[in-house]
Amino acid sequence: MALLKNILLWTSKNDWMSQKLPKYKFVQNSLSRFMPGELLSDALEECKNLEYSEYGTIITYLGENVNLEEDTYQVVDHYRNALIVIDKTSLNTLISVKLTQLGLDFDKNLCMENLNQLLKLAKNYNSIIWIDMEEYCYLEQTLEIFKKMSENYHNIGITLQAYLHRTTQDLDELLSYATNLRLVKGAYNENSSVAIKNKDDIDTNYMNLSKKMLSKDILNNGFKPSFATHDDRIIDYIINEAERNLISSDTYEFNMLYGIRKKLQKEILESNQNIKILISYGEQWFPWYIRRIAENPKNLFLLLK
Ligand SMILES: Cc1cc2nc3c(=O)[nH]c(=O)nc-3n(C[C@H](O)[C@H](O)[C@H](O)COP(=O)(O)OP(=O)(O)OC[C@H]3O[C@@H](n4cnc5c(N)ncnc54)[C@H](O)[C@@H]3O)c2cc1C
Repeated sequence: MALLKNILLWTSKNDWMSQKLPKYKFVQNSLSRFMPGELLSDALEECKNLEYSEYGTIITYLGENVNLEEDTYQVVDHYRNALIVIDKTSLNTLISVKLTQLGLDFDKNLCMENLNQLLKLAKNYNSIIWIDMEEYCYLEQTLEIFKKMSENYHNIGITLQAYLHRTTQDLDELLSYATNLRLVKGAYNENSSVAIKNKDDIDTNYMNLSKKMLSKDILNNGFKPSFATHDDRIIDYIINEAERNLISSDTYEFNMLYGIRKKLQKEILESNQNIKILISYGEQWFPWYIRRIAENPKNLFLLLK
């Protein structure tokens, strides 16, 4: 299974595959399970439906490793428009961005300026901008930019990956920030020198990190944890840990991806836990889609079927 996962993650980065595979009808058809459509309006329509069922939502416009300045401005414009529509329609929807979409690959200052604009806009709308965590090579810069932006903005959130060896230290440092912090297991194909490779060990690390994130002192300081996982064992652990420490379910939330483990999503909602669903959309869906397939090999068999 690990080999299959590595092949899929390699495929997600391969230019030839990225051009050919999305054209096949069977690939497009199977995509609809994970993505309501390519357009902002498709995503927001689904946000409306989910909100009707009392889920919160987060949207992310797909496309990573943008390498032209003009294209990064187009991403900012896209999100500006999204914030305006979200505000007009009074949706409870936040935005999550990848810094390589804002220019991190070729101009850090441009990336910071783009992010600054988004944060300023979101602040006007009383909204939060989440930052996704991408591959390891971007981690240092992503944390650096996050810390810099946190000096001026509180409406910012950052993602940490439990599969990285260094995340315990990174979390310790970020706990002092009164910030929104999302914990994920990690979705990229990283080297064992930087990442834990064994699934049980990643799960254990996730639980240890989540325990730290649920400490009463830091929650009282305004730290807001989001646990982004579909792993029911870990979700049970977090709920039990919160109950054991008399921590209100209002102080943390769960995040899950659109279309994945819908029954579990409903159970979490019905047990009075806060849950937000992250919806991805956009034309550049291929690398993201293959990472979703890699997360559960059963998806590959469904796709081939
Ligand atoms: C809101 C959100 C934001 C994220 N942001 C980032 C980010 O910024 N950076 C990053 O590296 N990763 C991100 N991820 C992805 C994350 O790192 C994992 O790859 C992904 O969530 C799968 O891990 P899991 O915690 O669900 O546990 P797993 O052990 O992988 O899955 C638990 C169970 O959930 C089900 N499941 C999980 N994924 C799938 C799937 N794709 N298809 C079908 N079933 C599935 C399976 O039944 C599996 O047994 C994000 C995930 C979420 C939910």
